[in-house]
Amino acid sequence: MSRIYNFSAGPAMLPSEVMNKAAEEMTDWNGSGMSVMEMSHRGKEFVSIADKAESDIRELMSIPDNYKVLFLQGGASSQFAMVPMNLLKGKVSADYINTGAWSKKAIAEAKKYCEVNVAASSESDNFTSILAESEWSLNADASYVHYTPNETIGGVEFHWIPETGEVPLVADMSSTILSRPIDVTKYGVIYAGAQKNIGPAGLTIVIIREDLIGDEIASTPTMFKYSTMAKAGSMYNTPPTYSWYIAGLVFEWIKNMGGLEKMSEINKGKADKLYAVIDESKYYNNPVDKKCRSWMNIPFTLAKPDLDSKFIEQAKTTGLVNLKGHRSVGGMRASIYNAMPEEGVDALIDFMNKFEKENA
Ligand SMILES: *Cc1c(COP(=O)(O)O)cnc(C)c1O
Repeated sequence: MSRIYNFSAGPAMLPSEVMNKAAEEMTDWNGSGMSVMEMSHRGKEFVSIADKAESDIRELMSIPDNYKVLFLQGGASSQFAMVPMNLLKGKVSADYINTGAWSKKAIAEAKKYCEVNVAASSESDNFTSILAESEWSLNADASYVHYTPNETIGGVEFHWIPETGEVPLVADMSSTILSRPIDVTKYGVIYAGAQKNIGPAGLTIVIIREDLIGDEIASTPTMFKYSTMAKAGSMYNTPPTYSWYIAGLVFEWIKNMGGLEKMSEINKGKADKLYAVIDESKYYNNPVDKKCRSWMNIPFTLAKPDLDSKFIEQAKTTGLVNLKGHRSVGGMRASIYNAMPEEGVDALIDFMNKFEKENA
């Protein structure tokens, strides 16, 4: 069987090594005679899998001991509500940075629970840039500052970390977590849906500083309290066991690749190559300010938009799939997360050059 190069924004490609290992262990994990899917989440086999996954992500991201790592369900979208429910702590407002479609969703949800101060927005330039922090109007009395380090749809990424002093910084890292080293100590909360850079859909990772846990709005559902999940080791109810296991295999794979320094080198290399082709050609265009172009999601348009569907069809017959841009942006989008091999990016570049020659 041959594998295609899948440029989907999520669920996205997983490393072949991970898929092969999971296939080998599918019906009999480590001599247990069971699939991981069939194990009790409280049994010693699964507990060992869960513990190993946690210790590996802690090692990879150098997560300090005063942070909990939670393995939850509900996707990043549930965090849009859980964050205000858990972090307001009696305050009435929170600061949000609006850099695109995912920021807007987080803002809309937070408005149900608090006053939202949009401290900066790049909506007026169609979300193709990021305002310098010196131009943000942060509120010193905000309960937290929320931002989206990588906007998956617009292809805009922060290559710096905001400084918010005593106010906890909260980040939706769904599409950039594990793409490079980050300084966890700068954050109060980091959350990410798994299906981009971690593993299969159904798992959501939350990394939270311990002092932020335990002062939630009184009406917060038990399942939505970080304190519930922190106390129970993410096993208050049945966790997404198989997704947790695959995430663990992905962490192991990243360690074997050389860790996050190495991943960031590879990721930057892949992105630089693709942007270079787009910028050198008059046929393809990416509108995003060069200072904040995403390493993970690269949208681009064709000079002749009526050829979009031809591009997508021919790419597909070449083994390059899911290049259609998000419906709100149009054009193309190549999502090139950790699991997209460099050969996949090279194949896309070859195809783009050939398509340009034939259709200019
Ligand atoms: C995909 C994505 C989400 C939504 O994730 P779900 O797990 O589907 O809820 C939220 N934020 C960002 C930045 C994303 O890329």
